[in-house]
Amino acid sequence: MKSSTRIVLAGSCALGLLSAPTTAWSAEQHKPAPTPKPTATAKPTAKPTPAPKPVDCTKVKCIALTFDDGPGKYADKLLATLKKHNAKATFFLEGQYVKSRPAFAKLMVTEGHDIGNHSYTHPKFTESSIEDIREELKKTQDVVKKATGKYPTTIRPPYGLLDDDTKTVAAEMKMPIVLWNGGSRDWATKNEKAIYDEVLKNAKRDGVILMHDWVAQTVTVMPKLLTELKKQGYHVVAVSSLPGFKTLKPADVFPAAAAQDKDLSADSPTGDPDDFAQSPEDGN
Ligand SMILES: [Zn+2]
Repeated sequence: MKSSTRIVLAGSCALGLLSAPTTAWSAEQHKPAPTPKPTATAKPTAKPTPAPKPVDCTKVKCIALTFDDGPGKYADKLLATLKKHNAKATFFLEGQYVKSRPAFAKLMVTEGHDIGNHSYTHPKFTESSIEDIREELKKTQDVVKKATGKYPTTIRPPYGLLDDDTKTVAAEMKMPIVLWNGGSRDWATKNEKAIYDEVLKNAKRDGVILMHDWVAQTVTVMPKLLTELKKQGYHVVAVSSLPGFKTLKPADVFPAAAAQDKDLSADSPTGDPDDFAQSPEDGN
């Protein structure tokens, strides 16, 4: 609406320069600009991004792309692509990288993406004490709040591994647990075509796809992938927009079927610690 108005005005101005302005044009130009009515609540900088109309996933086909272990070093490029394609994502952040890249975390929040807690140092919660799980999650809550002004609202345990202690802490912190039901194996293949094919193979309505914003090829294939998903009728949304999310209770696992999926951890770089060791470090 705004840009088409601008085009009309630009056209009028060009016309005005070439010939004598018509009365109507002239009158239009000299009309005083409407003064915005000041109100007690007017805060011009309070909301940098105007809230777009929310997508109703009960009526349209949705899918959620989720990115773990960030903010990765390519997060800014990924955010620019998501913005261009009007797509929302969910970032499961590691506290240690929020500390090193707070501006990226802030941008994720400013641009309307969901932020989840993926621990501070990425240990296996199934091998951690309940005290350590609590500490990992709380430290991350604090560092994200400091960087973005908001607390994460969901937990994704590293490698998707969780046990009763994880659920106990999630209940204490009043947060649901978000896993996934489709992988990309981006961390393993590091190949644009393979990532593209794997995501499309696993894409389904209301699906949750696991990806990583520290994998360069994930970020570079994203424009093509978003174009194809749109072509297939998908709206790419944050996890919180998916049906069933809003009624989750603390410690509930989402998507519900993910809790029973035995092959889930095959999507995450869990098998070979060497794969993971070189993942999101600066300079890799
Ligand atoms: Zn992870």
